[in-house]
Amino acid sequence: MKTTNLQCPSCKANVEWSDKFPHRPFCSQRCQQIDFGDWATESYSIAGEAVLDPELMGQESLDEH
Ligand SMILES: [Zn+2]
Repeated sequence: MKTTNLQCPSCKANVEWSDKFPHRPFCSQRCQQIDFGDWATESYSIAGEAVLDPELMGQESLDEH
C-alpha cells in the first residue's frame, strides 16, 4: 500500500498518512488544536459565509482516496 505524504496545515512539517501520525493531517495534537482554534475564530469572523480554504479542500480529497 502506497503511503501518502502531506504537510501539517499548522507548521508544514511532513506528515505520513499512516498510524504513525494519529493526529493526521496534523503532525501532532498540538497542531491539531491550534488549527481548529484558527478555523473556529475565522468562521465566526465571516459569519454565515462558507469558508473555502484550499487546505481544507485538499484534505477532503485526500480523505476520499
Ligand atoms: Zn504540525
